[in-house]
Amino acid sequence: MIAELIDGKAVAARLRADVAAQAASLRARDIAPLLAVVLVGDDPASQVYVRSKTKAAREANIDIRDLKYAAITQSELLEVVRDLNGDPQVDGILVQLPLPPNIDSEVIIRAIDPDKDVDGLHPVSLGLLAQGKPVFVPCTPKGCMRLLRDAGAELAGARAVVLGRSLLVGKPIALLLQNANATVTMCHSKTRDLADEVRRADVVVAAIGKPELVKGDWIKDGAYVIDVGINRTDAGKLLGDVEYTSAAQRARAITPVPGGVGPMTIACLLENTVEAARRRRG
Ligand code: NAP
Repeated sequence: MIAELIDGKAVAARLRADVAAQAASLRARDIAPLLAVVLVGDDPASQVYVRSKTKAAREANIDIRDLKYAAITQSELLEVVRDLNGDPQVDGILVQLPLPPNIDSEVIIRAIDPDKDVDGLHPVSLGLLAQGKPVFVPCTPKGCMRLLRDAGAELAGARAVVLGRSLLVGKPIALLLQNANATVTMCHSKTRDLADEVRRADVVVAAIGKPELVKGDWIKDGAYVIDVGINRTDAGKLLGDVEYTSAAQRARAITPVPGGVGPMTIACLLENTVEAARRRRG
């Protein structure tokens, strides 16, 4: 079987167009969705991410409040977050991670008003997700689920294997798959036989951060494969966590890296922001 390519760029473009239309209709009712983006420090990757998010938001009729700090203390940053919480014009608050070592990111995330937590990382957001009553779903996991649905994966009753258990990616994906009635196995660095777990999976989501750790011949014939991993080689090439070419010989559908999950993350952030504006003011 040669896999269908799951084109994250195309799915994300459709979602962004849909979000832009929703934001335009809110604007027609004098509600201008506004996302506050907080960037601390000079991490080049974070600067690139923030620029991409800001540009995409503006294209989707979402206003941006850009807050950049070369250096700031934890208590000053807490004050910034509290001001944004109290500002009725602000619908969503995004604090770009990672934060510099002088700041405890958990403390900052916990300070965000859960009604404005468009990144879905607040413990309340994750708790609601665990209860199966999600409000704001973290953007990358939300994007993965949309790609699976768009590819036509039947999740109810499927055997799903999630590789990686981070709070940002693996755990929320596992919860979302369970909420969709898949039977979910979570794997991590202490899993005894990763290959054996993957071989039984109808759906594989890899979020490990190790280039091509998942071998193509581990993939069950006809499986759906979502590769969240982004790994840059010394030569500057981007590789996923899955051996793409050989996995594509067996999978029913598979995401490429780049051009798979990556574009969905920003599109889902925009969707959450418009949803926040609608909930708060619509
Ligand atoms: P993370 O916090 O470092 O978590 C990695 C997870 O992988 C951990 O749970 C770890 O297990 C597990 N792991 C590590 N080595 C393993 C092995 N040999 N076998 C099985 N499991 C192993 O990373 P993350 O933030 O979840 O990100 C994962 C990847 O996704 C990274 O490449 C990141 O760049 C990418 N990512 C992409 C997007 C996007 O928009 N496309 C967004 C976020 C992240 P333990 O828990 O036992 O340590």
